[in-house]
Amino acid sequence: MKSFPMHYCSKCGSTVTLRIPADDTRERHVCNGCATVHYLNPRNVVGTIPVWGEQVLLCRRAIQPRHGFWTLPAGFMEIGESTTHGAARETLEEAGAHVEIGPLFSLINVPHVEQVHLFYLASLPTPEFSAGEESLEVALFYEHEIPWSELAFPTTKQTLQWFFADRSAGLLKAGTEIAVRSRDILPAESI
Ligand SMILES: [Zn+2]
Repeated sequence: MKSFPMHYCSKCGSTVTLRIPADDTRERHVCNGCATVHYLNPRNVVGTIPVWGEQVLLCRRAIQPRHGFWTLPAGFMEIGESTTHGAARETLEEAGAHVEIGPLFSLINVPHVEQVHLFYLASLPTPEFSAGEESLEVALFYEHEIPWSELAFPTTKQTLQWFFADRSAGLLKAGTEIAVRSRDILPAESI
């Protein structure tokens, strides 16, 4: 979901022009009235890998994009919250689950959609969850049950692949220091 093109200044309502301001190296939207430079920066998507025993909780999306596809609970970070608070909030909103947030597990740059995705390991204290407004259904999956061909986003797929690989290798046991997995996903790999 890319940023919308900017036409007017949010401070004074005048038109803006895309140009390189003095002392800068990139094109910015500069107000023709009050000269404010409007910087656009990537947005953070924060989410969790909610675990109950050997199973992982996934949500089936009730909204576009990728309606009907499965995803880890995640969404845009809000102003005023931390990444862990945002991840826990999104998990509660989409999956109706109160989770205990663990360490950061994956960090994936998706520059072609101007986003950075962060997923935290999380545990469900009880197997209680319910579909929120943005989900058609929420369910626990064993590794062999994961609907790999029906996953909504490449970052979900990549994070789950890393999760099961690291768990099989014994790298996610309690008391183990978690090595954050990271990569960049480029346009050719988008689905
Ligand atoms: Zn202005």
